[in-house]
Amino acid sequence: MAQAVRRNSSAHWKATDLSHHIHPFTDQHALPGQGVRVIVRAEGTYLFDSDDNKLLDAFAGLWCVNVGYGRKEIAQVAYDQMVQLPYYNTFFKTTTPPTAELGKVLADLAPKQLNHVFYGLSGSDANDTICRMVRHYWNVLGKKTKKTIISRQNGYHGSTMASASLGGMKAMHEVGDLPLPGFVHIMQPYWFGQGGDMPPDEFGLKAARALEEKILELGADNCAAFIGEPIQGAGGVIIPPASYWPEIQRICKKYDLLLIADEVICGFGRTGHWFASEYFKIEADFMTMAKGLTSGYLPLSGLMVSDRVFAVIGGDKAGELTHGYTYSGHPACCAVAIENIRIIRDEGLVEKVRDVTGPYLAKRLKELHDHPLVGETRNLGLIGAIELVKDKATRKTFEPLGDVGLICREHCFKSGLVMRATRDTMLISPPLTWTKANVDEFMTLTRKALDLTLADVRKKGLL
Ligand SMILES: *Cc1c(COP(=O)(O)O)cnc(C)c1O
Repeated sequence: MAQAVRRNSSAHWKATDLSHHIHPFTDQHALPGQGVRVIVRAEGTYLFDSDDNKLLDAFAGLWCVNVGYGRKEIAQVAYDQMVQLPYYNTFFKTTTPPTAELGKVLADLAPKQLNHVFYGLSGSDANDTICRMVRHYWNVLGKKTKKTIISRQNGYHGSTMASASLGGMKAMHEVGDLPLPGFVHIMQPYWFGQGGDMPPDEFGLKAARALEEKILELGADNCAAFIGEPIQGAGGVIIPPASYWPEIQRICKKYDLLLIADEVICGFGRTGHWFASEYFKIEADFMTMAKGLTSGYLPLSGLMVSDRVFAVIGGDKAGELTHGYTYSGHPACCAVAIENIRIIRDEGLVEKVRDVTGPYLAKRLKELHDHPLVGETRNLGLIGAIELVKDKATRKTFEPLGDVGLICREHCFKSGLVMRATRDTMLISPPLTWTKANVDEFMTLTRKALDLTLADVRKKGLL
């Protein structure tokens, strides 16, 4: 009887959802035919859906549940703060204790030049804020033509009008006539997909110099900033060659562009460093944080501003910063972030990813190179990718691109594993609490899904 009721509720949620809920990043017309999945609870690194399937979450929700699911300490902190003070705004010279405290925590953690924080609720709104602050900065300095922000094709910076304009995703630009004026894109440092016969470091320099070419084309007096994810996440976990970021840094200095590091995915231990900027030695003027900042337990974004930028936008010529969100510095969200960061630190998760699970994942992923579909595996810490290709030697992809990735993703689900697909690239970004045993379990499920995918690919005559 209990079982019958539960099955009943699964059907109920699915039908109710389809009647009213407009899903993000979903073909609304196709969805009723495909059906929705209802996730009802989670524990550690496992998800449970309304049909009683247990899934190993190799994607940490959406790159965000760094400390894993089911952390009662975090829930308790949110409860206590909501009882004490559920909400107050931070406009007009006001703050709350967790808002103030988190600023100190973040300034201590972030690269040394970043000591000022502006709060929002999402990576998208943080990047919108950056667009306004960049323009404000140059306006205050009297350099009013420095307006254009340069970013990369296939970069991802969010989904609002400005942040999707920063992003370089064609399919996103088609919804809403983007990019807005003042946003331009250069090539990405995607060696596996675009490097051809070039050695990776040579290709990294070429990709970085596309920035210099763009600046020279537009005129440095018209260029305000460059933004990039240290490792492109949604674009396919693209880890740039070592030559890339130092060259970008040099070019930004030479032509006086502000440098923005979007660490929404890379931050808070994902790469085995608190921020990937440390690993790549990026010295940013702005750094975007969200996702792992609260491990997704409550929404929060933080935007770190460098001393040099703050000296201007907080200087005597700047006037009022007429910008803010009702929930900027929300006390419950900030309290949750503080507790989340405490857990990451106390459990040594960053070091564990750097020294143990990251290297172990790299070693185990390499074993997949014997698989007929696998063209490359790559990872830095616990962010990684598996490239599925038609021809391993030439790195030739399947046509149309993306079908094989979707087939593989479906086989993952059926095998009890959540992995995401971008094009035919399978993406990995698990909770940082993963043990070597979790990596082993992941490898077993992945190998199974790849074999099933290979069988399908052969059946369809795609190989
Ligand atoms: C997810 C993401 C964003 C957008 O964050 P939202 O919270 O979804 O608005 C921005 N930048 C990067 C790199 C992201 O991965």
